[in-house]
Amino acid sequence: MYKTIALIIILFMAGSVNLRSQTKINSKARKIVIAHRGASGYLPEHTLESKAMAYAMHPDFIEQDLVLSKDNVPIVIHDIHLDDITDVDSKFPSRVRKDGHFYVIDFTYKELQQLNVFERFDPKTKKAVFLKRFPYGKSHFKLHSFQDEIELIQGLNKSTGNTIGIYPEIKNPGFHRKLGKDISKIVLGILIEYGYKTKSDLCILQCFDEIELKRIRTELKSNLFLVQLVGRIVNEKDLDDFKTYADGIGPSIRSIVNGFDKNGNVIYSDLVKNAHARNLKVHAFTFRADQLGKAPSFEKLLEMGFYGANIDGAFTDFPDKVVEFLEK
Ligand code: CA
Repeated sequence: MYKTIALIIILFMAGSVNLRSQTKINSKARKIVIAHRGASGYLPEHTLESKAMAYAMHPDFIEQDLVLSKDNVPIVIHDIHLDDITDVDSKFPSRVRKDGHFYVIDFTYKELQQLNVFERFDPKTKKAVFLKRFPYGKSHFKLHSFQDEIELIQGLNKSTGNTIGIYPEIKNPGFHRKLGKDISKIVLGILIEYGYKTKSDLCILQCFDEIELKRIRTELKSNLFLVQLVGRIVNEKDLDDFKTYADGIGPSIRSIVNGFDKNGNVIYSDLVKNAHARNLKVHAFTFRADQLGKAPSFEKLLEMGFYGANIDGAFTDFPDKVVEFLEK
């Protein structure tokens, strides 16, 4: 596995001059690229291999979704379930819950390490979600802890001289709380331990839960750069509330680019303008070269997002393509 990581890094670094690294210091002040679940357009999401490949593509930040194990280890995984990226159903068939799902939180870290990780698939049909991506069921990938991933990124920052940040997301804090676990407290403790404490450190912390993100600022007294993810329509009153504790918002690009009028002109919502009026950055999700919606090309989609709508950052499964676009 480590041979694969090393090879990927060498391949990508050999031919590319890191033009953007000189401007990295103030990376939250300009347009940024966030590697969404790593280089997930090319390798199974959230694997260390996917993160090493993303690193070599020179994004500004690499994303981690976090869910706790039974023994309180933050695991880098997108869902609270294991069903659609692992072989849990064949390794631990008796551990399924009544709702048909296998939960990360029901397994110890040691048990989770026994699972193989695959390209995202539909558990019912065993078919990959993105047909042109890494083949389902192939090669050998594992789950890992948040600490493992921080050490990979910090280690590469040391060995390459780059300054790439982390962009962790606290997943489903309410679900964790019901089982007596304070995921935010555990994650903030680890961040402090690894030197991520203030807005000028290379870390942006994100969460969909508005009450929880506010709590992270007020009750847990974090001084990190905080991004409020939004999965709903937000009005100006919502933004007034967000600005009391957050530094930015993370909406879907679909809530910013509303489509085209009858003359073919792009229709934009007021969301970015209204957020900028309140000094909130806008990091939109998710830019996928193999899922364009109504956009005629990936380049056009990026142009609409970054320059038509003036977003400040993009979550993307294809960090190489977005870095290349911004360098042009
Ligand atoms: Ca996420």
